[in-house]
Amino acid sequence: MAANIERMSMAQAVPAPRAFAGAAQSFAVQPAKGVFIENRWRPAHSQNAVDVVDPATGIVFAQIADCGREDVNAAVAAARRAFDQGAWGRTRPTDRGRMLARVAELIARHAEELAVIEARDTGKPLSLARGDMVATARYFEYYGGAADKVHGDTIPYLPGFFVATEREAHGVTAHIIPWNYPAQMFGRTVAPALAMGNACVIKPAEDACLSAHRLVELIAEAGFPEGAVALVPGRGETAGAALSGHPQIDFISFTGSPEVGALIQIAAAKNHVGCTLELGGKSPHVLFADADLDEALPIIGKGIVMNAGQTCSAGSRVLVERAIYDKVAAGLAAYFTGVRAGSPEMDLDLGPVINAAQKKRVETFRARAKADGIPLLAEGSIAPGVDPAGYFVTPSLYGPVPRDNDLACEEVFGPLLVLIPFEDEADAIRLANGTDYGLMAAVWTRDGNRALRVSRRIRAGQVYVNGFGAGGGIELPFGGMKKSGHGREKGLEALLEFSTLKTIILRHG
Ligand code: ADP
Repeated sequence: MAANIERMSMAQAVPAPRAFAGAAQSFAVQPAKGVFIENRWRPAHSQNAVDVVDPATGIVFAQIADCGREDVNAAVAAARRAFDQGAWGRTRPTDRGRMLARVAELIARHAEELAVIEARDTGKPLSLARGDMVATARYFEYYGGAADKVHGDTIPYLPGFFVATEREAHGVTAHIIPWNYPAQMFGRTVAPALAMGNACVIKPAEDACLSAHRLVELIAEAGFPEGAVALVPGRGETAGAALSGHPQIDFISFTGSPEVGALIQIAAAKNHVGCTLELGGKSPHVLFADADLDEALPIIGKGIVMNAGQTCSAGSRVLVERAIYDKVAAGLAAYFTGVRAGSPEMDLDLGPVINAAQKKRVETFRARAKADGIPLLAEGSIAPGVDPAGYFVTPSLYGPVPRDNDLACEEVFGPLLVLIPFEDEADAIRLANGTDYGLMAAVWTRDGNRALRVSRRIRAGQVYVNGFGAGGGIELPFGGMKKSGHGREKGLEALLEFSTLKTIILRHG
């Protein structure tokens, strides 16, 4: 039997890259587990598999099933049975809440094991992966507490009538998850859906999905009845397309690229079901001359470097009032110069990016910036000793970047930060709203009125004032405007997305 990453110690699972490269042959590739239906792994109908690559070394260390239509049909049928006729459809909200709380406990108990899996699968530094597991557990804890607190209304109507509303689960929900924060994204979408009583069919990203393999096992261990969750691993074009287009799905939750988001929306439209789409951003920090730079700059620097810039809500544009431009550029340059990329167990500021395509994308932006003559203000470094086959990129700070340059407008999904000067408040708002995206923003100023004025005029789902928490705050509704998508996740809002409203009109005479 191949070495099983879940049972490896930290030292084995994320070895030093050089040693690992040398000892690669001793690590057999972990075989695909198949498809998870009705609380157990079954062999997939599909004979195809996808290689799981360690981004820090480029080495294949596992495989996952590449589920096709038959596997998705079986998973959806099991979910349908569970919701329409099975124990899951009859489970009381309070019991759903208790089970979710048990999942939170199990995640906390297995946090180190999960963090090791996540770090190896994504390449992220171990401390970041550990933090991700705290957040993942917190999603289950939060929505466990909320499961039995979703109330309807009574509505005054005509004499002789009593009207009440109640929120019902959609039924079977599809969850298509990205690779940047695999476990957190799993918690963010699956925990509220389960809290409302939906049966969830989950398609994790082919680039990083091993934590999802473990999380469904923990959900089963927590006592969820058969069919409450199913996992259909595989590629987007196979498992993802089959799931999003399945006629027995009642709702789709998607986080990923705008291009695939459009396909998801078309699939949802064809089946006349709803969807939430979270599609990334080009989120601005708006720094006014009176901002507290000692507070702002470290948060801004760390925010884009975290997870190698592969965070939908990363603050990737810094809009700076001209009077403080030089000071901000110097402060951020000093930060960037000290930033170091390394493999997960080195636990530096960032790891590699997820795959060769993403590395190429980041390098293409860097090459284009050079060709366009955009000043490179500072670069971080890649730690000596990393595996040259790993997908490491150099964190870079650019400025001033012309407002219409690709680097200023397009989402890179890498550790590149752009500085753009602005003239006054109106100019700042115009610039902040000047991309296709609208996911997050931060306004930095000591002027309370201006903070509120500007926050209210920025078209983004979340606006921080004098702070920034990319992806933070499980309690805080989160989602996009414009090309960043629609629908809200996190907070109690997510419970509304994962349910539908019924109005019961009773004529009592
Ligand atoms: P990225 O470009 O960052 O990898 P994607 O949007 O391609 O992001 O992927 C996000 C998720 O969408 C992944 O789980 C991926 O497998 C899935 N996906 C990709 N293509 C499709 C598709 N055609 N239909 C459904 N899901 C897809």
